[in-house]
Amino acid sequence: MITAPVRRTEVLGIPITCFVSYENAAAVIVQRIREREKTFCIAINPEKVCFARSDSTFGDVVRRGHVHICDGMGTALAVRLMQGWCIPRITGVDLFLKLAATAEQEGLSIFLLGAKPQTNDRAWAVLRARHPNLQIAGRHHGYFEDASTIVAQINASGADMLFAALGSPRQEKWLSEHLEAIQVPFCMGVGGSFDVLSGQVKRAPEFFRRTGTEFLYRLLCEPWRWRRQSVLLAFGVKVLLEAVVTRCPKALFRRR
Ligand code: UDP
Repeated sequence: MITAPVRRTEVLGIPITCFVSYENAAAVIVQRIREREKTFCIAINPEKVCFARSDSTFGDVVRRGHVHICDGMGTALAVRLMQGWCIPRITGVDLFLKLAATAEQEGLSIFLLGAKPQTNDRAWAVLRARHPNLQIAGRHHGYFEDASTIVAQINASGADMLFAALGSPRQEKWLSEHLEAIQVPFCMGVGGSFDVLSGQVKRAPEFFRRTGTEFLYRLLCEPWRWRRQSVLLAFGVKVLLEAVVTRCPKALFRRR
């Protein structure tokens, strides 16, 4: 297990934790859980970077996170451009699946919060079939009114990891708001992961996943998302400008 110090950086002022692999991310997270160090993990993609910069409430939520995975080819390219570091993408859905497998091996328990009731049922059944020894301490669908009842249920479960599939930014805001009250060491928003796990939503074909262009596939399948994804262009322009401003002076004044 690789738990060596992990580099951190920022993309347009938003923090990024530079894990070198899923094994590295899982090892660091398990270590933090064992040390009962509260960990709020947020998946950062270009859309969230732009939203965190334009919406100060969401910006504050993101800054409350302890681990910020580099979820998105755009974010990984931005780190490469600004720092010269070649880091892999760590997607929210893949880290969730990796952590479920790790929890089974390490004897840690998980709580599944979110998605429609049937989807939550199905995601639970799929996880149980894949990981017979995984302790799923509790679960609840994501269409609830009273947050305090849900927090009490989560705490009573004694889970070590809470995965909240409530969609972004709702899940990050919800976790941030209840972070103190939730007595689970590791909390993470996992967006549409239960929809994927339950087979409700198909993952992008291998080509799109390998090239980091799932956003294109998602745009083809769900064209009404174009407004959400149009921020990608703005993100690219801002990253290029910042790279020019921060890197060019260094290059100009470098001694030959
Ligand atoms: N969802 C939920 N409660 C809500 C709104 C949404 O549990 O009040 C669930 C929804 O059923 C779906 C997930 O949150 O399973 C949202 O997935 P989406 O793909 O929109 O999230 P993203 O990955 O874009 O953040």
